[in-house]
Amino acid sequence: MLQNRNEMKVCFDARSVNEGFARIAVAAFITELNPTLDEISDIKTAVSEAVTNAIIHGYDDPEKKVELSCRIDGRQIEIVVEDTGAGIPDIGKAMEPFFTTKPELDRSGMGFAFMEAFMDEVMVQSKVGAGTRVIMKKKIGD
Ligand code: ATP
Ligand code: MG
Repeated sequence: MLQNRNEMKVCFDARSVNEGFARIAVAAFITELNPTLDEISDIKTAVSEAVTNAIIHGYDDPEKKVELSCRIDGRQIEIVVEDTGAGIPDIGKAMEPFFTTKPELDRSGMGFAFMEAFMDEVMVQSKVGAGTRVIMKKKIGD
């Protein structure tokens, strides 16, 4: 039997206003899988956290670009959020709950913890000075 497949990619400025755009773009793209409201809400939260991180930690220039891609394979969704900014020196530490390098901005250090709580799988690839790629997977209707 043929598996249902679909893929999209968008690229946008590193401006906070685009966090809302990214959430809605992913939510709209995955409607074909008939996700529940809870599943949509989980995915939107995870996308927001990853995109916000790219915007506020990856860059300090709003003209820089964030790339968001989403792939559907059967009931599996894979979302990739990528920046070519600062990078993360210690990924393990960055992913610990309450770890933040921007406490002065009222950051709580819970972004990665939320992504991990709301998605089935979260992988982070990063290189200092080169950028960060966050890959998140979730199965719909599990
Ligand atoms: P919160 O998400 O709760 O507002 P936070 O963004 O600091 O706070 P996390 O999202 O868990 O917390 O991220 C932890 C840390 O990882 C950040 O403080 C930052 O140092 C680093 N980080 C995360 N994403 C990136 C990125 N795209 N580029 C560079 N550093 C990042
Ligand atoms: Mg964050």
